[in-house]
Amino acid sequence: MYRAYLSALADLFYPQHCVGCGRRASDLLCERCFAELPEIKHPFCQRCGAPTAFETFVCENCKNADYKFESARAPLKYEGVGKEIVHALKYRGYIRVVERLMVPLMLEMVQGKFDLVVPVPLHRSRLRRRGFNQAELMARGLSEKINSPISDKLVAVRRTRDQVELSGSERWVNVSGAFGARGPVAGKVLLVDDVFTTGATMSSCAGALIKAGAREVHALSFCRTC
Ligand SMILES: [Zn+2]
Ligand SMILES: [Zn+2]
Repeated sequence: MYRAYLSALADLFYPQHCVGCGRRASDLLCERCFAELPEIKHPFCQRCGAPTAFETFVCENCKNADYKFESARAPLKYEGVGKEIVHALKYRGYIRVVERLMVPLMLEMVQGKFDLVVPVPLHRSRLRRRGFNQAELMARGLSEKINSPISDKLVAVRRTRDQVELSGSERWVNVSGAFGARGPVAGKVLLVDDVFTTGATMSSCAGALIKAGAREVHALSFCRTC
């Protein structure tokens, strides 16, 4: 947590800069960047959350994918200001974006009641390097807002390569069997991560949760590649 702590401390003493464009601003996002948030609007695929030409329950992308989650949603596309916000958190430890920007936008995508909120875990070696798990911070914020407990039962059981380096099909192989639950899980689970790309990580996590007893898993990320 050390780096994140330092950055939070720095926030208190230095004038604020917009996380979208870096210019001086009176808030985390300047007005222009706020207006440019790359929102995913209707119509989108009801299964995987991808923008589509018309409302559908199975889009071209997910037609052949065997997702283990019931649905996936993200408020923003992983581009422009959306991508800048993710990077501000992940690589610069700017944790204030979680409570101020990510959780409020993600909350708008949550429908119905959940029994459990589960973050996509980081393997302990990566957690040690980064100092914090961004998905866990997001899950914690969401858990408070929707009044469902957060669970740390899902763990990364082996190290995986960074998905960023890999092609679509390699990503599925990379995360296959990479997650497991330490103990039983029950009910309807909200699975939380920062970015949804192929859905391989979310699907692998959902599979592990279902194996551990979860009734159904719904994936929620802050951004999604489109
Ligand atoms: Zn800006
Ligand atoms: Zn789809």
